[in-house]
Amino acid sequence: MEVDPANHYSLRLPKPNYLPHKVDVDGPVVKKFNKPLDRPSDLENAAYLNKIKRFAHEYGITKPKGYTVSFHYNPEMERHHFGQTHPMKPWRLTLTKSLVSSYGMNFAMENYTARAATYEELTAFHTDDYVEFLASVAPQPLPLDVDNSSPDLKFNLGGSDCPLFEGLYDYCSMSAGGSLDAARKLCTGQSDIAISWGGGLHHAKKSEASGFCYINDIVLGILQLLRIHPRVLYIDIDVHHGDGVEEAFFSTDRVMTVSFHKYDPQVFFPGTGALEDNGPRSEHNPGAHHAINVPLNDGITDEQYEWLFKSIISRCIEKFRPGAIALQCGADSLAGDRLGKFNLLVQGHASCVEYCKSLNIPLLMFGGGGYTPRNVARAWAYETAVAIGHNKTIPTELPLHTPWRDRFRQDTLLPTLEQILGEPRQNKNPKKKLDDIIEHVSEQLRFVETAPSVQFSTIPPDLGPIRDEVEQRIKEEVEEKDELGRKLREEGMGDRMEL
Ligand SMILES: [Zn+2]
Repeated sequence: MEVDPANHYSLRLPKPNYLPHKVDVDGPVVKKFNKPLDRPSDLENAAYLNKIKRFAHEYGITKPKGYTVSFHYNPEMERHHFGQTHPMKPWRLTLTKSLVSSYGMNFAMENYTARAATYEELTAFHTDDYVEFLASVAPQPLPLDVDNSSPDLKFNLGGSDCPLFEGLYDYCSMSAGGSLDAARKLCTGQSDIAISWGGGLHHAKKSEASGFCYINDIVLGILQLLRIHPRVLYIDIDVHHGDGVEEAFFSTDRVMTVSFHKYDPQVFFPGTGALEDNGPRSEHNPGAHHAINVPLNDGITDEQYEWLFKSIISRCIEKFRPGAIALQCGADSLAGDRLGKFNLLVQGHASCVEYCKSLNIPLLMFGGGGYTPRNVARAWAYETAVAIGHNKTIPTELPLHTPWRDRFRQDTLLPTLEQILGEPRQNKNPKKKLDDIIEHVSEQLRFVETAPSVQFSTIPPDLGPIRDEVEQRIKEEVEEKDELGRKLREEGMGDRMEL
């Protein structure tokens, strides 16, 4: 069969490096990642536990009424590191956990220690040879010459972006395990919002590592959600294009991907995600028009971002009617990130989470990028507070008992732009650009057929019985839609108006 290149995901330009070489190290390099967050002695642990209990009591941090939030995390992830100068610091997870627990938020959630995903689970998306290689390859020191790394580099592994560090496979499988567990809790209805801050690794491909990502836990999580939901909306607010997830679901209309990112194809990773890239070009491919891209320039503000996010996502929801939302909360879109250059504050970033939560659709929240650990921790802690409905009730001053409190530089959860950057970055996003984006996206959505699909090409074959269940649900939806159309016609109102 001849392959039409326009209908297959491909890179438009040679991919820029994720990692700008010669980056400044953000303050002193944290050498030890294996410091347990828990106090060294039982006595100190008990004292810390007492403090957070008192804090939770004082601020009324209890489980939300009417819905359940689950938190999926494995502290073992913190013990790994990508290399001293690599910007990906699992230490940011330690700091996140430090804030979340110090604010007593764990008392408002179901807390699960994420298990490692199994080989079979990983190969639900990734190829056997890739996962086998990941599992068996020996750690390698970073090549000195980053542009000419090891000649026998396979699967894009071992370079400066995706180094082969000690414990890599464990790290990946724990990250994926957390996201899989989170997705399953949503599927069983035990959770309404499930959080996996150790996941969100959106660049990983079927058989290739990319941009600090090795295993695409998001794709694995969405595959779980597709077991019971006919349609899943994927939203990505990382500063980088969510290319791995877009590619994985390129040819299906059961997943719509929406990525907000900086776009500068010559220099900024991964170089994809132009406004005009909306999935396969052929109208015969069900995935056509199901990839929405929102390319932005440096310096976008909270107001603009929030407005754009709500305008676009509300339109997507209306047209696509997802049964679940997968939200990647990459924190490199925050002001002061080591790689990203937006002007977003925690509040602006979190407004996306607030909006998704307000839709009352099962919500899976992932981490993602984020290279200034203290800011990442602030954002993910605040967004955890949004999930449990306590973001307005907790004090903004970091609790005095917060472990590593001095590492946060400012003692507030919500520092101002001035505190973070001094001078805000120049905003290169004129109103006209944003209006054009909304117009283009609205135009794309006109083509999105609300009738549900019967296309299952991306669903692994082992999902037989569950697949039948979803098929039945889709059939019912089609019938419902037909019924609605018939009623409207009978009432002389014609077909439903298309927006
Ligand atoms: Zn990123």
